[in-house]
Amino acid sequence: MVSSREVDSFAFLQSLPKVELHRHLIGSIRIETLFDIATKNSISLPTDDLHGLKNLIEIRKPVPIFRQFLAPLNILGLCFHDKKTTARVTYEAVEDAAKDNVKYLELGISPAFEASFHHLSLEEVFEGVIEGLRRAEERYDIKVNLLAGPTFKWREKIHSPPQVLETSLRYKEKVVGFGLPAETKEGVPFLRWHEELKREYAMLAKRAKESGLPLTVHAGEIGSAQSVMDAIKHLKADRIGHGIRSVRNPRVLKCLIEKRIPLEICISSNVKSGVVKSLNEHPIRQLWYHGVVITINTDDPTLCGITLTKEYRILLSDLKFSYAELKKLIFNALASGFLVEKEKEHLNKSFQRRFAKLEGLLNISLRFKQ
Ligand SMILES: [Zn+2]
Repeated sequence: MVSSREVDSFAFLQSLPKVELHRHLIGSIRIETLFDIATKNSISLPTDDLHGLKNLIEIRKPVPIFRQFLAPLNILGLCFHDKKTTARVTYEAVEDAAKDNVKYLELGISPAFEASFHHLSLEEVFEGVIEGLRRAEERYDIKVNLLAGPTFKWREKIHSPPQVLETSLRYKEKVVGFGLPAETKEGVPFLRWHEELKREYAMLAKRAKESGLPLTVHAGEIGSAQSVMDAIKHLKADRIGHGIRSVRNPRVLKCLIEKRIPLEICISSNVKSGVVKSLNEHPIRQLWYHGVVITINTDDPTLCGITLTKEYRILLSDLKFSYAELKKLIFNALASGFLVEKEKEHLNKSFQRRFAKLEGLLNISLRFKQ
């Protein structure tokens, strides 16, 4: 039996094989790389000092309004200068995940947003991203797939949401799912006065699913529990990004549990974005007690200054999860991935072996200590 004190060591948590289902590429870009790409390509930044840039991008304490949490993405996005720089930031994002022992990653991209900074085509974004992640896969023991989706600026003139979907379908060797935001700059689609938006969402979701792309929807983060229900009912979401506000509505909880729809929970992101008031008030424990399928993710490692290992540490030390519970959460993530069944089985077996080995080593070192 492994006790919580022994596994609390950062080194042990880092050595655990991990799966992550909710990490945005744009929120994973290294700030040093942004600085370098900007210098080499004469891109003007809000400040020409690296230290100042870090102050602008890293969110060190919770922001007063949610919009402020997303603001640094408008600076990080300047990295998408061309195919080459896109490949570079993707390679590095995957490298960082691999060094944290993430073995399977579903990386989120919003190609229309990424393309908007330097007027790239959707193809240039996809090809740059795929080139970068393939290079990282060759070098590291990690498998990466993509979740593509439209931007929050739903009605952006260039690269409309249907175009993003149709282009995603052409890169299905790496795109395994489609991601939708429950809210856009134009509003919340399921409110009565947004019938048109609702129709657009529903059509897009239907087309994605019929084309073989399962759906994950950001809902119940800043929106109400009802937004989670809307995502399930109207869009047939297979997973929910965040979904933490489900805890406020027993009907939504019941639906999540009955349908076994996983939540992609991002603890530090929720605290820093001000979605929850403090770590202690994060509803992850309640969701877990109710029996909701939950998974642990980083959302935006650069913005939040975190790694997945750091999130595991928070889970054990601040939120009082046990090692056995953490292990279950890792296997939940594995089971909830949009991988084909055969790959999932393969990954599952290799995780079982790795865990057995790590736990065995831990028991040996504990015996020597006594
Ligand atoms: Zn997200």
